[in-house]
Order: sequence, then C-alpha cells, then structure tokens
Amino acid sequence: MSDFDLRFWSHKAADWTADYHESLDERPVRAQTQPGDIAKQIAAVPPEQAEAMEEIFSDFETIIPEGMTHWQHPRFFAYFPSNASPASIIAEQLAAAMSAQCMLWQTSPSATELEMKMVDWLRQALGLPEDFQGTFQDTASTATLCAVLTMRERALDWKGNVEGLFDKAPLRIYASGRTHSSIDKALWVAGLGQNNLVKIPTDDNFAMKPDDLRAAIKKDREAGLIPAGVVICIGGTSIGACDDAAAICAIAKEEGLFSHVDAAWAGSAMICPEFRYLWAGVEDADSIVFNPHKWLGVSLECSAHFVKDPATLVRTLAIQPEYLKTYGKDGIVNFSEWSVTLGRRFRALKVWFMMRAHGLEGLRTMIRNHVKWAVRLAEQLRAQNDFEIVTDPILSLFSFRYAPDGVEDLDALNLKLVNAINDDGRIYLTQSVHEGQLVIRFMTGQFEMEEKDIDIAFETITEIARGL
Ligand SMILES: *Cc1c(COP(=O)(O)O)cnc(C)c1O
Repeated sequence: MSDFDLRFWSHKAADWTADYHESLDERPVRAQTQPGDIAKQIAAVPPEQAEAMEEIFSDFETIIPEGMTHWQHPRFFAYFPSNASPASIIAEQLAAAMSAQCMLWQTSPSATELEMKMVDWLRQALGLPEDFQGTFQDTASTATLCAVLTMRERALDWKGNVEGLFDKAPLRIYASGRTHSSIDKALWVAGLGQNNLVKIPTDDNFAMKPDDLRAAIKKDREAGLIPAGVVICIGGTSIGACDDAAAICAIAKEEGLFSHVDAAWAGSAMICPEFRYLWAGVEDADSIVFNPHKWLGVSLECSAHFVKDPATLVRTLAIQPEYLKTYGKDGIVNFSEWSVTLGRRFRALKVWFMMRAHGLEGLRTMIRNHVKWAVRLAEQLRAQNDFEIVTDPILSLFSFRYAPDGVEDLDALNLKLVNAINDDGRIYLTQSVHEGQLVIRFMTGQFEMEEKDIDIAFETITEIARGL
C-alpha cells in the first residue's frame, strides 16, 4: 500500500475538480444516458490483481461524469438544490483525509467542539432563541426519524425501546398532507405504522387547519389511542406549502404533544429576516430540522437538527454500552447519543469553511437573488398567454403549466414538455402533482447560478413548449 503516490493523485483530483466546475455550463444538466449504459462499461467481476491508478483514474474520467446528473450546474432547477460551495468541497477533502469516526468527544474533540459551535452559529444565523441546541444528522429523514422516535418514547414513558410496542395502544402522529414522504417513512421505521400518521386537511394557503388538528386529537383520545406528536411543514417539497407554526405549536403545547418542524429546504432562507414570517412561532417547537446541504452551500450530507431539550433526544437514543463510556470530563457531548447511527462523519468542518468563506451577508445575497430571479421568471411566464402559473412563488419555488388554447389533456402535454426539456439538457426541471393536476416545478437555488441563467430558462421553456 505504501507506494501509492497520494500527493500526485491528490493534485490530479484537485485539477479535475476545478476543470469539472469550469466545464459545468457546457454539460447537459440531467444525465443523458440510458439505463445500463454505465453498468455495461464496468467489469463484471472484481479484479484479482491491483490495477494502476492511471487506468482507474482514466476510467473514471471517461465513464462516470457522462452518467452523472450535474447538481452543481448553474441551471439545475429541479427538486431542491444540493449545492456545494467551493469552500465546503475543500473542507470535505480535508475531512476525508482524516476520515475520523466522530462518535464521541474523545474520538475527535475537534469534531465535537466544532460541531457544537457550528450548530450554534446556524442557530444564530436563523434567528432561533438560545434555548435550542443541536447536532448535525446526515439527512433530514434521519432527523425526522429521531424526532418521531422521541415522540414515541416520550408518549410511552420511555418504555418503547425496552418493551416494544406489542401491548401498547397505537400512537398517533399528526401532519398535513403536504409533508414530505420522510415523515411517513419515519413512522414505518419507528414501528408506529403508516395508518397512525394522521393527515390533517389543509386550507386555501395549503396550511394544516388548526381546528381539524384539535378535533383529530380529541377523537383519537376518545378512541383510546395515544396522541404523541405533530410534524409541522415549512416549505413542502411539491409547491412549498407552509403550516402556521405558531398555531400548531400552541395546540401541541396544550395537548402535551412533541412538535417537530420540517424546514429541510426553506430553513436556509431564514438567514434573511424578511422570510422568517414563513415560520413565525417556530421558537415554540421542540425540534427543528433544516438542511444546510440543500440551499446554503454545504455539500451533502449535513442536516442541522435543533432541539429544545437534548435530554429527551438522548434518553431516546443513547445506549451507552460500557466500552463507549467516556469518563472524567464534565460537560462533554457524545453526539452518537443524539443520532441513530453510531459512526459519524466530521460534518462541522465544511460548515465552518463555508460560512467563513462567504459570510452571512454573502449567503443572504445569494438567497435573495434566487428568490428574486424565481419571481422574475414566474412573472415572465405569467405574461405569456399560453402559460399559467399554478402556484405562486414561495421563496424560490413556483409551479406552472403550458396551457395553449384547445388542448384537452394538459397533464399529458406538460409531462411531454418536462421530458423534452430534460432531454434538451440546457436546464433541468421536475414535475409534481398538485390538486390532482400535473404541474412543472421551477426552483432556483444553485450556488453558481447567475441572472442570465433565468433568461436561458425562459428561452428553453417557451421554445420547447411551442415546438412540441
Ligand atoms: C428534501 C426534503 C426532505 C428530505 O431530506 P433528506 O435530507 O434528503 O432526507 C424532507 N423534507 C423536506 C420538506 C424536504 O424538502
């Protein structure tokens, strides 16, 4: 192993990284390969003998980028972003160089102490009160699972982990129908069952109806079920729906339920005070998740999970086998006790690099531009008489349809349009189903994006639609 020229290949990878970023603009955003195109270029069996790095690297260059969808492309307007600032990419390389397993304070004090600081930097950046502490989970799905497990243990007086759920009345969790599928999955994994996720109807603004929530809780109690928690959606995936956090947190408090806010995407925008009205009242929640790996420029994976009372989370998740006990030091945090997995990567380093390289002002400018540009495109499309805006921009996300006169099946037409756009490669969009109709989503959030990319988006969308 010792003759591996780490220095040479690290330089080579660094050059490749810079070249790749410079070439992004010329690449099709969504991979244009067919199923199996990449697999057939990969050897069917593992090599018995070592191969030269020259060959490995050259295969990487010729095979892999072709089959990648380029999430760092300036015209990635699909899903939500997974943007990675250059500074965070560098930090990720350094973290990989050390590859520490950061489960306990003593297994890397720098990782733990930097994580405590970075979570607190983000707390301040978002304008959350001091009584929130937190950790970096890998993804929002995991943070939500941790929150649902906490709801479960808290409602069962901490007996679920030990006794299982067999002889217990069903636990009930409430959320609007606009929440992300990760909430459903959290209930599956926590053993609570899909049927115990109660989807509360939403109002004209796509927010959970507080009175319906109250009524559902009452009905469940009367039926002998155990209301355990509520998940509040701020910035839903389909069209950006937001619940009324203040109203829902108030009900959760009255009813003794644990509240968890899923702001995986929208949370990043809360570094701008003018957007905080979207989650007004959030300071009363028990748990909040947002993904710096979506819109803030921290490379995957990095999900900030804030909690009011870490003791409930740790009581739910800490196993503390004897060999993991760290003795002697008061006030040390072992973040593996705050999460499902034992092994943890050093995620805080890329947050530190990213926030220092851009500063909050730089990041606010980026987010404000994204919102402004999305609004601009929505207005441009609205002004065309063959396009309609279906849902107005919420932050930098809106949905639209191509609706020329005389077409009956607009769903089929718009599906055809979104596929044609993605085959074209200049931009990348995804569709959603909203109120029973197929809509095309448009979302800005890419770190390197410029205003001219909106012009390209407008040209591409209108040109392809009218040429169908
Ligand atoms: C992206 C997203 C998730 C899932 O995030 P992961 O980090 O991929 O698990 C959950 N909720 C919302 C609202 C999201 O936008």
